[in-house]
Amino acid sequence: MLHKKGKLIILSGPSGVGKGAIISKLFENKKLNLAYSVSMTTRQPRNKEQDGINYFFVDKTTFMKNIEKNDFLEYTNFIGNYYGTSKSYVLNLQNQGYNVILEIEVDGASQVLKNYEHRKDIMSIFIMPPSYQALEQRIRMRASESDEIIEKRLNKAKEEFKVQHQYDYVVVNDDLEVAVWEITEIIKKK
Ligand code: 5GP
Repeated sequence: MLHKKGKLIILSGPSGVGKGAIISKLFENKKLNLAYSVSMTTRQPRNKEQDGINYFFVDKTTFMKNIEKNDFLEYTNFIGNYYGTSKSYVLNLQNQGYNVILEIEVDGASQVLKNYEHRKDIMSIFIMPPSYQALEQRIRMRASESDEIIEKRLNKAKEEFKVQHQYDYVVVNDDLEVAVWEITEIIKKK
């Protein structure tokens, strides 16, 4: 069966903004025909994260080999760990007709926007917290990381806020249902 090639949906936003919860809700809507781009990372698994589902957890040597093979659509170093999106993984899903969600940070997003040939097949969405204080509270409540890492994530968030205008859409995650509705409408528009 021949499928129409799927789109790329870039979702960015600071740590703790609720991207995971938003994505889970979006996946309940089968009509959106979504697939998740499982990234490769050198960071350690957190809590209940599973290899091959949340990330492909690899060591630095494996990650570097993938860079050499030129199999990253984009990659970055985020507070000491590497994260990257596999070109072949994403293309395979798109060819099956899925709209592929790339949950990536801002540096990776700008690489994709620069390097990907078919700009009209991409939509980019930045998710904002209702306030910086709300974000800080959520990250601290997660309590899965050391204070040092939490501080780094919060500082990174301030940097990320500055580039939100580079995205096609900015959605505030104050009420989860509302944010999911807004993003659903954006995806349906394309
Ligand atoms: P976390 O450690 O919280 O899972 O992810 C840290 C940041 O890296 C988040 O902003 C997340 O969206 C981003 N990220 C996850 N996978 C990738 C990827 O493949 N590429 C890039 N550039 N960022 C990623």
